Amino acid sequence: MNRQGILIVVSGFSGSGKGTIMKELLRRYDNYALSVSATTRQPREGEVEGREYFFKTREEFEKMIAKEELIEYARYVNHYYGTPRAYVEEQLAVGKDVILEIELQGALKIRDRFPDALLLFVTPPSAKELKRRLVSRGTETAEVIEQRMRRAVEESEGMESYDYYVVNDVLDTCVEDVHRIICAEHGRSMRNREFAEQIKRELKGE
Ligand code: 5GP
Repeated sequence: MNRQGILIVVSGFSGSGKGTIMKELLRRYDNYALSVSATTRQPREGEVEGREYFFKTREEFEKMIAKEELIEYARYVNHYYGTPRAYVEEQLAVGKDVILEIELQGALKIRDRFPDALLLFVTPPSAKELKRRLVSRGTETAEVIEQRMRRAVEESEGMESYDYYVVNDVLDTCVEDVHRIICAEHGRSMRNREFAEQIKRELKGE
């Protein structure tokens, strides 16, 4: 079977732990590439330009939109976030599974533009646990936490648009769950039409 890269969207409530899961996935396996988004929000402590995000001014971001350098973008809590096109295309072309860690509006745009994309939604085991994690992260003000809890209510409305739910209770289990879903996805018949045609030809002795 061919090993064409899959475009994978990972969303989840802010505080669901999706960032940690993705980092761990990349550490364990070498078939993944993580797309680094552009954003107009300020860097948080410890965030590095080009690693967590490409930090842009609003003007710079709007230029990227105009030049069609983003495959999708959205506004989230008063800032722009978008996925740079070049890296995604390069990595898919060399057979990597490319992960976009993006929110609902962006995920829906990707589904429209790339019907073969795989959409995963990461959720904590309960709403109570989500709040606990947001508070204990300690990087956000109470106001931002409330904003994000309200946004989580909105994002839960879009959960049905995703292909799989991944419950992040124990990190290790969750990382392996995600990897297994993606491995299984590579075997889907719709991703292997050419393989089917080839084996049919071989069977007929062509
Ligand atoms: P944060 O500010 O916590 O880093 O990210 C806020 C939200 O924006 C998260 O849900 C994150 O997944 C989402 N996000 C990050 N990059 C992108 C992007 O390129 N496009 C879209 N649509 N959402 C993004």
